[in-house]
Amino acid sequence: MALAEEVVLEAREIILETHSLVKDFNGFIAVDGVSVRVRQGEIHALIGPNGAGKTTFFNLLTKFLQPTSGTIFYRGRNITRERPADIARRGVVRSFQICAVFPHLTVLENVRVALQRNLGTSFYFWRSEKSLANLDPRAMDLLAQVHLENHARTTAADLPYGRKRALELATTLALDPDLMLLDEPTQGMGHEDVSHVTQLIKQVSANRTVLMVEHNMSVVASIADTISVLQRGRVIAAGPYAEVSKNPQVIEAYMGTSSVALPSTASDALPGTAS
Ligand code: ADP
Ligand code: MG
Repeated sequence: MALAEEVVLEAREIILETHSLVKDFNGFIAVDGVSVRVRQGEIHALIGPNGAGKTTFFNLLTKFLQPTSGTIFYRGRNITRERPADIARRGVVRSFQICAVFPHLTVLENVRVALQRNLGTSFYFWRSEKSLANLDPRAMDLLAQVHLENHARTTAADLPYGRKRALELATTLALDPDLMLLDEPTQGMGHEDVSHVTQLIKQVSANRTVLMVEHNMSVVASIADTISVLQRGRVIAAGPYAEVSKNPQVIEAYMGTSSVALPSTASDALPGTAS
């Protein structure tokens, strides 16, 4: 009895859990028995060298790919065989890639479209300018959350790169996800944009859970509560940054040598945002 109670208590804390997840691409095992636990409310970073299987793992979680074997639990429910639409309906939302931001629409229009998607509105709703305008306060609120309120009328294509990623974050937030999956949100950004988007992720993670693939160890050091390190499809370490960053196997996977230290604190990592 005591054991059963413990299991229930734990299930409440863990929002997402995988058991020995495997993805075999015609004999190449990209994800090789990955067991990960993501706690509700945390920012969980998935790190690892290129080709480690991080994106494939994300694709398994959103059911873009079917796992070869293993199990995925979301809020204690086995979702391994569910369809992508079911997963999204449960509140698991992956950030859209830049290409999914409509370049010819304005920033505001992009967020409106995402809000409509969330409402599952009909064709007629689409056509009603008045109904569209009803979404504006909510859309502006989302833009304010990512500090784009002064760019509402800007055509998305004209935004600088960092702000496009901020827009992408706003369109993801429009779906009001419980669990946000972000695949390399700071990829290709300059230092200032990295700091900005990092702070945004921290900010929008309130009342949500974030699972993010991130290469930039400074970003990970500054905002991740828990880290899972993937190498050649396997988890080689998991835990808080302070612990994982000292793991010789992790340092070696990153630096090719275990004698180089990874950033140890947020202020080391992101001097621009430490103030
Ligand atoms: P990461 O995101 O960690 O850089 P990926 O998950 O993209 O790594 O890729 C992991 C490995 O799986 C790579 O070696 C990649 O070439 C391989 N891979 C990814 N997708 C496919 C696929 N559809 N078919 C065959 N191999 C794939
Ligand atoms: Mg990847």
